[in-house]
Amino acid sequence: MPYCEDCAKYWAPSAMNADGTCPTCGRVVEAPTRQSTITAKNVDVKKLAAGGDGAHDDAAAPWHFKLLMVLLVGYLGWRVVELFV
Ligand SMILES: [Zn+2]
Repeated sequence: MPYCEDCAKYWAPSAMNADGTCPTCGRVVEAPTRQSTITAKNVDVKKLAAGGDGAHDDAAAPWHFKLLMVLLVGYLGWRVVELFV
């Protein structure tokens, strides 16, 4: 969120001037380019879902996580069995 130190006020990007200056004092509070603004057009949802450029390979569960899951399931299963003993 752009912040003008002179006015001590936060400005919504849509409330500022087109060139990124403060509407009251004219101070530049944001770079004129709006490329950093996230919109539905410049966000590639499919790329985000895929984890970027091949990074999803690193998202696979590590072996110790799988071991933890096996132990957890085994423990909970044993607790269920214990209820009827
Ligand atoms: Zn200002």
